Amino acid sequence: MTIRQKQSDATCNYSVKRMRNEQIKYGGLIALGLIGAGLAVVSAGLSHPAAAALPAAAMTSIAVAGLAMLARAQQHSSRHQLTERQNRTAAMNDKLSDAQRQLADMKLKVQLINRRKNSVEAILNSIRDAVLVTDDRDRIILANRAAERLFGFHFDPDAAVLAAEILGTDALLVLIQKSRTGRIAHVRHEIALPQDGREAIFDAVLSCTEDDADHNSAVVAVLHDITREKEIAQMKNDFVSHVSHELKTPLASINAYAEMLVDGEAQDAETLANFCGVIQSQARRLTRLIEDILNISRIESGLVKVQKANHSMALIIRDAVEMIKSYAHEKNITLNTQAPILYDQVYIDHDMLSQVIVNLLSNAVKYTPAGGTITVRSEVNESDNRITVTIADTGVGIPPEDLEHIFDKFYRVQANNKCAKGTGLGLNLVKQIVETVHGGQVFVTSTVGKGSTFGIELPLAAEPAGLPA
Ligand code: ADP
Repeated sequence: MTIRQKQSDATCNYSVKRMRNEQIKYGGLIALGLIGAGLAVVSAGLSHPAAAALPAAAMTSIAVAGLAMLARAQQHSSRHQLTERQNRTAAMNDKLSDAQRQLADMKLKVQLINRRKNSVEAILNSIRDAVLVTDDRDRIILANRAAERLFGFHFDPDAAVLAAEILGTDALLVLIQKSRTGRIAHVRHEIALPQDGREAIFDAVLSCTEDDADHNSAVVAVLHDITREKEIAQMKNDFVSHVSHELKTPLASINAYAEMLVDGEAQDAETLANFCGVIQSQARRLTRLIEDILNISRIESGLVKVQKANHSMALIIRDAVEMIKSYAHEKNITLNTQAPILYDQVYIDHDMLSQVIVNLLSNAVKYTPAGGTITVRSEVNESDNRITVTIADTGVGIPPEDLEHIFDKFYRVQANNKCAKGTGLGLNLVKQIVETVHGGQVFVTSTVGKGSTFGIELPLAAEPAGLPA
């Protein structure tokens, strides 16, 4: 028999006993009343010796007294029952309010937990790094949006998908398993993962955490995309090695010619002039190179001082053509320019844009054989609010495979190297000035053996500042 059954039996026995006591008590009273009433009836109607012994009135009063006692006893009993019931109801009410309070407390706790869960989810999803958590059986138990995007899946907290299904036999899965089995608290690896059709480099931090209660281990993997940083570091390395190489060449020839002068190898005036000429031109090249490098790095680092104002591109073109005219004449190259357009106001740094036009014009002269033609055009498109300047030549042209690199730092077209000396920085400076400083665009089209067209596109100034001076 269970404890509960025993308890309920004991309760039953007690109730039965109590009922029996009450039956005896009330039974006596009822009997007394009934006897009195019976005697009164009998003495009134029958000639019984007992009835005859008591006067009818006395018997009636006994009967009344008995009935009154009976009524009082019943009254007392029902009052007692009522009080008991009221007590029980009060106790039950207390229990009910306790339960209600506990329920309200629990609701509050659930609300709090939900709020915390939502804010943790919001924080996780706002992180740009991919976060993945796997359990002791390598199932994904948490993944943020960045992880969903990176691995191309939708995380369902109720699905418990195997990490292998999402990551394949990827290096990351191996790292996760190693971290879990070795219970490694914190480990860092550089891994390559495919992303948007290319390989991206990630700094992966893996931590194995252990649940205090059941000693189950989970692995938290955080993946930070460092592809751009890697590219920049590589570019810096390339830049430094290019610069050193480019600086070395003119310095070497300056040194060599200076040494010959010191050794007295220039015996006549002509040789002396020749040696000095080489030193001078190499020194100029070195100066140009250093200036270009400094200008580019100032623009890239955002340290360049830009003085923008409204200027006419037509006037800048006119001045640049004036500067380059004699150089074109030397090579018997015809320089065509359009009649200047008025009201072609652009909000620009005058000196920087002058350098852009001069660089493009001097390149056109450099890479156009004698007898060629250079045509400078500018066109204002008011509906687009832009001005386009193009410099077209009839020069050697650029092979298609070189075109996409032509604006890169130190890039020189192998096939054109014999045409002219250069640093490979001029076009990069043009791009930096037009795109980074002025929000414009550079473009090029070219056909080998026929010529090239370089162009820039700039936004027109918001307010025309009157006629150009
Ligand atoms: P560089 O100092 O070598 O001229 P640039 O950056 O100005 O450096 O130009 C990069 C390369 O682009 C040049 O080496 C040359 O091969 C090619 N290039 C530039 N302009 C022209 C042009 N108008 N015609 C043909 N090739 C050109």
